[in-house]
This record gives sequence, structure tokens and C-alpha cells, in this order.
Amino acid sequence: MEINLISDTVTKPIKGMLEAMMNAEVGDDVFGADPTVNLLQEKVAKMFGMEAALFFPSGTMANQVAIKIHTQPGDKMFCDKWAHVYNFEGGGAAFNSGVTSHLIDGDRGMFTADQLQKAVIGRGDIHVPFNRLICIENTTNKGGGACWDFEELKKIEKIARNNDLAFHLDGARLFNALVAKNETPEQYGELFDTISICLSKGLGAPVGSILIGTKEHMEKALRVRKLFGGGMRQAGFLAAAGIYALENQVKRLAEDHQKAKEIGVVLETCSYVKKVEPIETNIIIFYVNDDIDSMDFIKKMEAKGILLISMGDGKIRIVTHLDFTNEMLVKLKKELKNF
Ligand SMILES: *Cc1c(COP(=O)(O)O)cnc(C)c1O
Repeated sequence: MEINLISDTVTKPIKGMLEAMMNAEVGDDVFGADPTVNLLQEKVAKMFGMEAALFFPSGTMANQVAIKIHTQPGDKMFCDKWAHVYNFEGGGAAFNSGVTSHLIDGDRGMFTADQLQKAVIGRGDIHVPFNRLICIENTTNKGGGACWDFEELKKIEKIARNNDLAFHLDGARLFNALVAKNETPEQYGELFDTISICLSKGLGAPVGSILIGTKEHMEKALRVRKLFGGGMRQAGFLAAAGIYALENQVKRLAEDHQKAKEIGVVLETCSYVKKVEPIETNIIIFYVNDDIDSMDFIKKMEAKGILLISMGDGKIRIVTHLDFTNEMLVKLKKELKNF
């Protein structure tokens, strides 16, 4: 039994999802003629109380297109120093949109409205880039699945409006936050100009992300998606998996969160563990003692059939997901205790 906990992207479609995919009605989506893609887009837009949505092959492309439609080359994007759009998208914000990233020194991937307010104030002359976009991430990836305080997000939205800044949410794991904090998609739809969500993370679809926003923004996004090479043909087979995921695999995220908490409890008792970051959703980040090489720890766990991932700086990450069964949880807890 291999236990793969490197990410929540390792899941494979279950029978019900595969059946939905095989039975999907499809057409050429580049011509807007795939009924299943259209259905998914309408469903998600409605879910968030927003005007329109667009299906993407990846979360990276959805974020990159959002950045592109909100900015001009030379503009400034504000984000946390741990942001995925800055750290993990291959330098795409600079490459695709030519934007400068202003990194805010937040806590577990989250900054405060006060920090942002200080960052947006400054000289407004020819020496400095135009402030154009704020991008936040919920839950935070590098921050260990942490969830933003919604009241803080409302304050940040005010700053966005007062300063004429676009407000984008990288919601690759937004549904984890919604389930953990008992929040609704509509709440987020009201605050943000654009939201990206991943269907291929905790929700368990094999491929796919969605960008949501106004009709006008999505018309621009459609053009940029084509330009970036993201126009897909009979994509309804994939969209069907997304619909299945949204209808059947959202509530169960709570189980992933519960398992993550149980793993955290075990790690707290292990003498070789230096620190466990707070666990709010399905990501566990912990540090081993200085006398243990984290890469060596990962290798030894791998030899027992348990795959974990290094986040650098001695940080190790575990991500729970729908293919991580109760039986696997028992084995993992045992191996961690006995290490
Ligand atoms: C996974 C992820 C993305 C998108 O990643 P893809 O692998 O391109 O789908 C974007 N933002 C965050 C925070 C993520 O965790």
C-alpha cells in the first residue's frame, strides 16, 4: 500500500466521476459549442453570484490570465511574500504580464489590511510603477493551508476600491477554506473582481480550474486564454469531472481536515519534531529537529511506502486528500510514532 501525501493533486477519479466523464455531451469549446463546459461555467458563476466563468486547463493559467487582464506591463501587483503567483508560477507574472511584484511580509501567507495600506501609500510620480492589482491566496499553500479572516478581507477590499486596484483571489483551495470556516462562495463573489478555483486539488477532478468574474473580464480572459494556448476542444469530458466534483466532493473535505488534525496530534508527540504549524485545513507543515536531515527523513519514510514532500528550509509537508483512506491514516500514524 503506497501512501502518497505529497499533494492533494495525486487523486484519481472514482467510478462515478469516470462515468460522468464518459457520458458527457461534448462539442468544440473553442467555438463555445461544448454544452458540458458551458454548464460547468454557468454553474460556477451562479454559485459565486458572479456574472461569468471560464474553464482552464490549470490553476496557473487561470491566475496568469487574471493578472494579464488586470494589468499593463510595468504595473505593480501586491501579494504576500509566500504567494503562489510569485513563488510557483515560473515567474509568469513577470514573463506574461511584465508586472512588478510588491511582496508583503505577512504571516503564513496572509498580510493585514494595515500592512497593505502602508504599501499602497507612496509617491505617485513618474519614478514609481502604477499600483494596479492585489492578489491574495485562500487557503495559503506555502502557509500550510491557513485561512484568511473574512473581516480582514473586507478591509482589504475597501483599500482596493479606494485606490482603484483590481482584487484577485487565487482560490486553488478556496473550498477547503469555505468548509473549514463555514463560509459561502457568494461571500467571496461579492468581494473580488476575479477568483480562480482548482477542481484538481481537494475536489478530486483529474484536470481543470475555473476563473470567475464579470462578463467583461471573462470576455477579455477568453481572448488571453486563447493567446496563452489554453483553448480546448471537446473539453466537456473534463468539465463533467468538475461538475461531478462540485456536486459530490465538496462537503467531504471536512474529512481531509479531520485526518490532518489527527496527524498533527501525533507529530506533536514525536520527539524528533521541532515544530508543527497550526493545522486549519488539509495541509500539515512541520519541522524536524536540527540534528535530523529532512531529506533523509523523507527518504526513510519513502522506504516505508509513505511519500512526503520537502518545502525547503527543513520544512516537510503532508497533504491529505480523498484517496487517503482511514486504513492509510492508521499506518501513517504508526510509522510516525515509531520513527
Ligand atoms: C496548485 C495551486 C495553483 C495552481 O496550480 P496548477 O498546478 O497550475 O493547477 C495556484 N495557486 C495555488 C495556491 C495552488 O496551490
